[in-house]
Amino acid sequence: MNVQGLSEREIFSYLENAKSEDTDYYRVLSSMCTHPHKIAAEAHRLFIEANLGDLGLFAGACKLEQEVVRMLGELLHAPLIDVPSADSYEYSVCGYLTTGGTESNIQAVRGMKNLITTGKKGLKGTPNIVIPESAHFSFDKVADMMGIQVRRASLDSEFKVDLASVESHIDANTIGLVGIAGNTEFGQVDPIDKLSEIALENELFLHVDAAFGGFVIPFLEKPQPFDFKVPGVTSIAIDPHKMGLSTIPSGVLLFRSPSVLESLKVSTPYLTTKSQFTLTGTRTGASAAATCAVMKYLGHEGYRKNVQYCMQLTTKLVAEARKVGFEPLLEPVMNVVALKVPNPDLVREQLLERFGWHVSITRTPRALRLVLMPHNTPEEIIIFLQDLKKVTAAF
Ligand SMILES: *Cc1c(COP(=O)(O)O)cnc(C)c1O
Repeated sequence: MNVQGLSEREIFSYLENAKSEDTDYYRVLSSMCTHPHKIAAEAHRLFIEANLGDLGLFAGACKLEQEVVRMLGELLHAPLIDVPSADSYEYSVCGYLTTGGTESNIQAVRGMKNLITTGKKGLKGTPNIVIPESAHFSFDKVADMMGIQVRRASLDSEFKVDLASVESHIDANTIGLVGIAGNTEFGQVDPIDKLSEIALENELFLHVDAAFGGFVIPFLEKPQPFDFKVPGVTSIAIDPHKMGLSTIPSGVLLFRSPSVLESLKVSTPYLTTKSQFTLTGTRTGASAAATCAVMKYLGHEGYRKNVQYCMQLTTKLVAEARKVGFEPLLEPVMNVVALKVPNPDLVREQLLERFGWHVSITRTPRALRLVLMPHNTPEEIIIFLQDLKKVTAAF
């Protein structure tokens, strides 16, 4: 650290320098995040010092968090529960604002583990969960942190989890299943209703990772069942900082039953509240304000238009790609396209080097992964495909 402080001017010129190296989402086709909505950004600034880790001091921000949980609970058909202690909210759904999909997934599995190990079901060995092979890498962290064995079920030809494979991985030490509603690589939605049947039959938790899809699927023309309407679903992760157009870090974890949230509690002797069920301690109220504000500002109709726009880009990309001879691995379900191209790793490298396009690659099979977000435009797609054609012409 410098001994004497620098001037404001020096600081901001230093920051602007760093900022100039950021992308501003220009030619970015690889990100599930985008520019936050301006309403979200303003609300974020307004609540910049609010700490949701010490609720008693920030009752206003706390109400905004509750309102986000309530609105998302409503969107995802969560059951209402009695909250006798909350003064202004007689009924609520249970959940809280996390830092994103990773924390939500970790906490969902921690809840399963806490309830099982304190419950009747006596486990003889290491507890395990069964997840699709397409699951996000956050589940590797779960395995690492909690001493839970993570078993990966294979995918079918449409990149959905294979149900027979899920069943073959379940044994006496299985505590829960995970289904992905909008997987990160292919944008595919697992058969959540079928996973629910398996979960109910075997008395297992079923966590749905809708980090990306949660703000997409409900606004599609033909939404697939994935939320609390499906009876076996016990928890859902949904990220406002992706297609919810809120600021980073905004994730939400919702539970069907308060008992899971209860199982996450630790006591907090020196705060204004007696206990805490969150993973992080100090946490920002700015995200709550940003998410609450943008959800109320856009409403259902605003999000429907946002999804419609991204789906139009997706349809256009696939149609134009076909014209020049590139097929998608699967018909896109959401605004994620996996495009079959020769030599994808080299194509990715050259697209960036020669034309400044940021794209990514799926793991198996290797294909070009393109996410069509609100920051992308129809004109951009035409240019992208011309550039892709130039790059692949050499192979
Ligand atoms: C993005 C994503 C995550 C991780 O979310 P973070 O906000 O990056 O922690 C988890 N699961 C899925 C399906 C995702 O798309």
